[in-house]
Amino acid sequence: MTISAPRLRIAMQKSGRLSDDTQALLKRCGLKLNVTDRRLLAHVSNLPIDIMRVRSSDIPGLVMDGVCDLGIVGDNTLEEEELSRALIGSKNDYIKTTPLNFGECRFSIAMPEEFEYTGLACLDGLRFATTYPQLLKRFAKENGINVEFCLLKGSVEVAPRVGLADGICDLVSTGATLEANGLKEVAEVFRSKASLIQRAEPLGDEKQDILNTLLPRIQGVMKAKESKYIMLHAPKDKISEVSALMPGKETPTILPLAGREDLVAVHVVATETFFWETMEKLKALGCNSILVMPIEKMMG
Ligand code: ATP
Repeated sequence: MTISAPRLRIAMQKSGRLSDDTQALLKRCGLKLNVTDRRLLAHVSNLPIDIMRVRSSDIPGLVMDGVCDLGIVGDNTLEEEELSRALIGSKNDYIKTTPLNFGECRFSIAMPEEFEYTGLACLDGLRFATTYPQLLKRFAKENGINVEFCLLKGSVEVAPRVGLADGICDLVSTGATLEANGLKEVAEVFRSKASLIQRAEPLGDEKQDILNTLLPRIQGVMKAKESKYIMLHAPKDKISEVSALMPGKETPTILPLAGREDLVAVHVVATETFFWETMEKLKALGCNSILVMPIEKMMG
């Protein structure tokens, strides 16, 4: 009998708002996986990892119950499941291994355009359509108001227009869907983004080793996404002013330029947003050939 080596099982959304970013992250971490629509358990060919593709709302439970070792899920889904499970006394523990830099949205209360919003107190006693009732209930309790809710899994925005609810509490990113449905955002209940979560029980040495390989790669991909490699030519006597302008700067590399005594090349990794305004200020200092380039991977 052969005993196969343990494989780390990661749950991700099968299709929806988080699936493309999650898949892109795993690919950029070097995982070779063949994701086809019908295959719900995708085998990673170059690392002992399996990817389980499920509904977003099933991910927290799969991790909390130990069916999957890791999961990539929105914080809103995670907290809703945690609160629901606490109510019925089910196991609801997990480890948040690392926040991820995609899936940003807010869970907000929105009312019809004509509603006169004067503060949270004016929502007391109203009825809200939502997919995440526990998050809304917790917010109402913390703010000393009573709300009723009706549970809708989708098309929540339509509820006030058809008389199902006074308002809604739903996920918003740009607000365009609210606007298109005659609604306005009045209060933010919860801010969310995607997270990598891990089951609470220890993974065991072999799976932990796989995670120890994967985690620095995930962090490297995220850091690279936020960072830029900047190259420019700067007047030798302006180096300190130029360095001071670099966002989230690391120590710059200064290189001589062939045949130029007055100019040097400056290379630096900027870890914060590099704005056009900064480029204009560099130009005003006498810099030229300013290049801002994306970084694919970073480590150490
Ligand atoms: P599933 O159908 O897979 O159970 P879902 O209905 O929540 O889940 P999506 O609408 O794809 O599926 O949303 C998945 C997650 O994407 C949300 O839970 C949230 O964390 C995140 N998200 C980011 N921006 C938005 C947004 N504007 N609207 C909805 N969700 C968003």
